[in-house]
Amino acid sequence: MIIMNGRDLKKEKLEKLKEKITQLNKKLGLAVIQVGNDEASNVYVNQKAKMAAELGYNFIHETCDENISQDELLNIIDKLNADDSIDGILVQMPLPKQLDSNVIQNAISPLKDVDGLTYINFGKLVQNQDGLVPCTPKGIIDMLDHYEINLDGANVVVIGRSSLVGKPVASLLTNRNATVVLCHSKTDDIKKYTLLADIIVVAVGKKNFLTEHMVREGTVVIDVGINRENGKLYGDVDYENVKDKCSYITPVPGGVGQMTVAELGENVYKAHTLRKKLERK
Ligand code: NAP
Repeated sequence: MIIMNGRDLKKEKLEKLKEKITQLNKKLGLAVIQVGNDEASNVYVNQKAKMAAELGYNFIHETCDENISQDELLNIIDKLNADDSIDGILVQMPLPKQLDSNVIQNAISPLKDVDGLTYINFGKLVQNQDGLVPCTPKGIIDMLDHYEINLDGANVVVIGRSSLVGKPVASLLTNRNATVVLCHSKTDDIKKYTLLADIIVVAVGKKNFLTEHMVREGTVVIDVGINRENGKLYGDVDYENVKDKCSYITPVPGGVGQMTVAELGENVYKAHTLRKKLERK
């Protein structure tokens, strides 16, 4: 069994990216909008700030009161859309109830949408066109590629169908010629599918969701889950009991989460190059 090391891969990715950024001779800008003061969001924003500092990006952290109105938030996004020094914009989720996250997300210019969640970028992903792809799904594919795991014709079961993880990773895998079964809370007998899988991606948000009885020998298991319990992090996989059945497995922490941050760094660079290419046309 091989433990897929997200930390090393992240380091490698950031080193390569630094070289490309140096050649640009320009300071790139990432703006993160945070509404309220959610504890988990603070952790994620800090990780993004650290990555931005490491890459030499200008990091703009827009903090908004949790009672901000939708119009006020849309005004902030409009200003960042128009600001040439900003290459990437993201709104930290979740948002308070008075805000429609779909409307907010889609107010971001698709050219600066480094979360890859606007209708335009999502549509491009489904149509297998070049665009900005959500960070966690992209990180999963890069990790599978790094470990040279074959996707062409592979049977993959994705558990979880969110727009953030499950659906985009299913599309990326389909684009790479995998045969994908997408399971969710209404799927009858998930085990029936996972026992046939070459690769299982679990993005449910429930500790110990994937148990040893759901996995056959030699499977690749990608654990996306992040569950906090008594200050510790757990994935969605019953890691101790599942790991010895796997050919490859990602740990939590130190797996997919590490890739997500590195992919965001790459998306800022990509957003910049895509935008500049369009301006030259
Ligand atoms: P989400 O929006 O809550 O979606 C969870 C999905 O799991 C839904 O599609 C839901 O099905 C499905 N589900 C829930 N209970 C189930 C059950 N009993 N059987 C089968 N499916 C079930 O969550 P998310 O944003 O995709 O995130 C999933 C997990 O990944 C969370 O722990 C999150 O913290 C973590 N995450 C990690 C990273 C990272 O960088 N590592 C990034 C993003 C998210 P329905 O659609 O039927 O409700």
